[in-house]
Amino acid sequence: MKKWEELVRKVVPYVPGEQPDQPDMIKLNTNENPYPPAPGVQRALRELDVDTLRLYPDPTSSQLVDVIAGYYQVSSSQVFVGVGSDDVLAMAFMTFFNGTDPLLFPDITYSFYDVWADLFRIPYQQIPLNDKFQIEPSDYFSENTRNGGIIFPNPNAPTGAEMTQRDVESILQHNPDVVVIVDEAYVDFGAESALPLIEKYENLLVVQTFSKSRSMAGMRIGYAMGSEKLINYMNDVKYSFNSYTMDRTALSLGVEAVKDDAYFKKTLKDIIETREWVKEELKALDFVFEDSKANFIFASHKMVPAKEIYEALRQAHIYVRYFQKPRIDNYLRISIGTREEMELFLDFLKKFLKSDR
Ligand SMILES: *Cc1c(COP(=O)(O)O)cnc(C)c1O
Repeated sequence: MKKWEELVRKVVPYVPGEQPDQPDMIKLNTNENPYPPAPGVQRALRELDVDTLRLYPDPTSSQLVDVIAGYYQVSSSQVFVGVGSDDVLAMAFMTFFNGTDPLLFPDITYSFYDVWADLFRIPYQQIPLNDKFQIEPSDYFSENTRNGGIIFPNPNAPTGAEMTQRDVESILQHNPDVVVIVDEAYVDFGAESALPLIEKYENLLVVQTFSKSRSMAGMRIGYAMGSEKLINYMNDVKYSFNSYTMDRTALSLGVEAVKDDAYFKKTLKDIIETREWVKEELKALDFVFEDSKANFIFASHKMVPAKEIYEALRQAHIYVRYFQKPRIDNYLRISIGTREEMELFLDFLKKFLKSDR
C-alpha cells in the first residue's frame, strides 16, 4: 500500500437497490411510490424561473421548513430539512453520537446505519430482533444495555413491523441520557408516529422523508422534527459541513407536495388498500410473513427458496429486493405498486409456482 493510501478513510459503502431501466419493467425493489407527485409539483416545476438559479438558495430553507412545521403543528424551530432522510440521518449521526458507549440498532434493519457508524467511527451494537422479527423494547433500556444512543425505523425495514407508541415511549423513558432517533420513512402507510412525544422528550428526533409517501424519491427531501435544542445542534453541524444542502428546485417543489393534502391522503389510501389485498393473495399462494404497516411486504415462501423466485421474477423484468444476509436470505421484500402492477406480479407468481421449474 502506498503511503498516502494509509491515510485514506476506508469504508465499505452502502449498496442501494438496483435502478434497472427496462421499458416493460415492474419495479417493486426500492419502495418508491407508484403514483406521480402531487399535480402542484408539476405546475411549480413548469413555472420555475431558471434565471433564479444564478442565485444561491435560502440557506435556512425557511419556506419548506415553515410548510412542514405548519402541516405537523410544530414550531419552525423544531424542523430540520435535508437532501433526503439519508442526509438528515447522516447529519444526526454526526451531531449526536460522539460517545464511547455503543449506538444501538436492530440486527435486521436499514443497512445504512452500520455504514454511517463506520464512516463516523461510532461504536455500535446490533440487537437481534425476536423470532417474530419484532424489536424487544427492553433490550434497548439503558439499564439493560449501556449505550450512547439509539436508532430504529418504525415501521422497521425491511420487515414492515410496527412498534406501538407505548413501546417507543418505554424506550425513551429508559433512555433519558442519550438521543433516540425514530426513522419514520414508512410511517404514513398506517403506523403511529412518535411525533407527539417530541414535546415530552427533548432527546427524541423523529425523521421522515418525501421519498416514499410523497412520491418524490428523485427530488431528495427529508426532514427531522424534535426539540428546538436538538434542531439547533443539527443546524450547527449542517452549517459546518454544507450551508446549501437544499437546492431551489427541491425547496419549491417540496412546498407544493405538502400543500396538496387531499392528493397525499388519496394515494396513501390506494397503496394501503392494494397492500391489504396483496397480503391476502400472497397468503393464498403459500407465502408467509409478519404483518406490514409499510409500503412493502417482507415474505418467504413455504416451499420455494426466495432466491429462486427473485431470479425468476427478474428474468421477467419484475424487480423485488432480495438480501443475501443472515436470517433474511429466504425472504423477498416486495414494494407495493399500483393495483395493475401487483396483478401482473401475482399472475406471474401463480404461473411460476405451479410450473415444474
Ligand atoms: C428509504 C429509507 C430512508 C431514506 O430515504 P431518503 O430517500 O434518503 O429520504 C431512510 N430510512 C429508511 C428506513 C428507508 O427505508
